[in-house]
Amino acid sequence: MSFELTILGSSAALPTSQRFPTAHLLHAGERFFLIDCGEGTQIRMRQYGINPSRIHHILISHLHGDHVFGLFGLLSTLGMLGRRVPLNLYGPQALEEYVEFYMRFFGPLPFDLVIEFPSEHKEFIFESDKLSISAIPLRHRAPSFGYLFREKQKPLNVRKEQIDVYGLGIADLVSIKRGEDFRTASGTIVPNKELTLPPFSQRSYAYLSDTSYDPGLAERVKGVDLLFHEATFSKIDKKLAAQTQHSTAAEAADLAKLAGVKKLLIGHFSSRYKDPSILEDEAKEIFKNTSGVKDGDIYSVPLERLSGE
Ligand SMILES: [Zn+2]
Ligand SMILES: [Zn+2]
Repeated sequence: MSFELTILGSSAALPTSQRFPTAHLLHAGERFFLIDCGEGTQIRMRQYGINPSRIHHILISHLHGDHVFGLFGLLSTLGMLGRRVPLNLYGPQALEEYVEFYMRFFGPLPFDLVIEFPSEHKEFIFESDKLSISAIPLRHRAPSFGYLFREKQKPLNVRKEQIDVYGLGIADLVSIKRGEDFRTASGTIVPNKELTLPPFSQRSYAYLSDTSYDPGLAERVKGVDLLFHEATFSKIDKKLAAQTQHSTAAEAADLAKLAGVKKLLIGHFSSRYKDPSILEDEAKEIFKNTSGVKDGDIYSVPLERLSGE
């Protein structure tokens, strides 16, 4: 089962010939999640062979143009493609007004739009048997959320040889896959660990854009496999980052280090930097396993078994 992130746009407010504004696509839990939808998102999907009809969930971080200007075009295309199944939208309250504006001038759509807003009372904004998503409030000029995607624990695999050794039946297998121990006819307890293969890791991706540097976020994204953190500015423009409530590449790396993540991805680069590799270098000085993302990049997290303790 794949856990794969495709970068559809890696620029900040101004698109360049190489970089479109922000949009990511995560394929996880057998679903496609579009995260932000900057101008040109649907064009990138065409270029990268992604069928927009396969997307059922769109998560918007905030209502700044570089994160939502692509949504109108995408909604219109989905309607023209004859979509009938509902589309789920998640994001700040203002998203409702934004969609109403679309409906007033360009609607109606032949499918339902279901809008969900993050709230302090909801632990997850989305949950299936394979995956959960939580919203993380960010510090920005508009109400803004990051999103944390985490796989659920998969059922354990029973060691084939043990089925014969203990004569395990269907009911036994069901409880062992859930993690329970096995009791033999003579009353001996066989620990679950002896009956099963090590569990699979729960893969995770955290998306943090746009935000001021906030060390408090480290606890929320602790140990994730992939962390995307915006890095609009270089540390030489730290003042500008603070004024506009954005982060520097060094700050993104500081957060990755503090959170002990496995890999850091940075993007949302200001077009003022002709060569954004300086931002990647700046982050790498603090957190080595960093990649500055480009449109079209794909990052996969392999499914691995956790080694026994
Ligand atoms: Zn932005
Ligand atoms: Zn913004």
